[in-house]
Amino acid sequence: MKDIKDKVEADITTHDKNPYEIVKELLKHSISELGFDENIYHILKKPMRVLEVSIPVRMDNGDIRNFTGYRSQHLDILGPTKGGIRFHPNVDVDEVKALSIWMSLKAAILDLPLGGGKGGVIVNPRELSERELEELSRMYIRKITPIIGPEKDVPAPDVNTNPEVMGWMIDEYDTLRGYNIPGMLTGKPIILGGSQGRLAATGRGVVLMVREAARFLGMDLRQCTASLQGFGNVGSMTAKFLDELGVKIVAVTDANGGIYDGNGLDIPDLLAFVKDGRSVTEYTKAKPLNNQDLFSLPVDIFVPAAIENQITKETAPLIQAKIVAEAANGPTTPEGDKILEEKDIFVIPDILCNAGGVTVSYFEWVQNAMNYYWKEEEVNQKLEERMVSGFENVLRMRQQQKSRMRKAAYMVGIQHLVKAFKARGWIKNADLTK
Ligand code: NAD
Repeated sequence: MKDIKDKVEADITTHDKNPYEIVKELLKHSISELGFDENIYHILKKPMRVLEVSIPVRMDNGDIRNFTGYRSQHLDILGPTKGGIRFHPNVDVDEVKALSIWMSLKAAILDLPLGGGKGGVIVNPRELSERELEELSRMYIRKITPIIGPEKDVPAPDVNTNPEVMGWMIDEYDTLRGYNIPGMLTGKPIILGGSQGRLAATGRGVVLMVREAARFLGMDLRQCTASLQGFGNVGSMTAKFLDELGVKIVAVTDANGGIYDGNGLDIPDLLAFVKDGRSVTEYTKAKPLNNQDLFSLPVDIFVPAAIENQITKETAPLIQAKIVAEAANGPTTPEGDKILEEKDIFVIPDILCNAGGVTVSYFEWVQNAMNYYWKEEEVNQKLEERMVSGFENVLRMRQQQKSRMRKAAYMVGIQHLVKAFKARGWIKNADLTK
């Protein structure tokens, strides 16, 4: 568990924006632009169920520390809810609610038979020993067990959780239920029924979206440069696949700081270097870079792959990229977004850009249900089909509505959900022809 403890933020960023308020605002505008009435907003604005749990853990010194955790389930009209579990000191109930709504939209855009869920625990895992972290992971699952399961709600990894944590969690769940239920969560170790390709799926999906955006904008990726914020699971995998497509990656950062090389970083070498939990700042074959200076670098592609609220009214004016690929969830504040729009930057919005993770999580859940497993090529090919089709649908909506990619993505997701509301008889008169 050394990697989780080492990569947790040294400088924990405080949220200057409430992601739940942001997502509600975007829902409201997109619903109105699609010509739907307010009832759709009233259904979508609140998760159907939010659980708060207390998680007492016996610490190594014998004391009990009681952590707070959440699980939010937004909407289950298309299938079980699905979404990651985050361990972070800034987790709060509004963040978890927002993340669960984004998950519903992602699943809808990619036409996955799932709804949105999300969980989190308020904790800085850096402060825990490995035993304490395992105890916390197991205890959290015990507390949310009544509302999760393969046909109800299926967790997965998110910030500061990984396959190892998923392994502890599934072990705890199976022990409680008394038998092996691999489909209760995804992002598991392969040996426990994890899917080939899941670990790399989010980054692979991000790069597929960058490829499609570059094609649309007439950019040759082999002539492009990129910079990335965040070098955890998503950031590092995104770097790997961008590098393989010939993009020159000149800078990356993590919570401790960053590195820069105008001639392009040696990504395979850097990936090997950070593998056992080292920060990119310890890599001496490139120049040090301040986290703030990352924003102003003259690159073609900028990938925020860390946490929320990073592209703000202060940082957006500095960005020179032609494409911003939102690998993280909610990296852009509304003020930041407005500035990107004024600068005519092509934004691949989070709910499309990082949907590769939930897509392969869906494939994992399907394979668990069949108890029959696909080869990695098959997983990757199915991922590409879904993501490219999602991109095309969003682009089509953007053109039809003369909108931006973010609004268009919301609209595609909302329209899909409204079809289901109509089919269930919840809404009688929605005009789906727009
Ligand atoms: P992770 O914990 O593996 O990595 C997070 C990275 O961000 C670390 O390198 C950390 O040091 C860095 N970071 C944190 N604060 C930073 C800051 N202020 N400046 C620079 N770097 C900073 O998490 P992850 O799984 O890679 O998730 C990253 C983002 O992608 C999150 O927003 C997450 O919700 C989203 N996401 C993840 C998945 C997935 O499959 N893991 C799927 C979809 C979306």
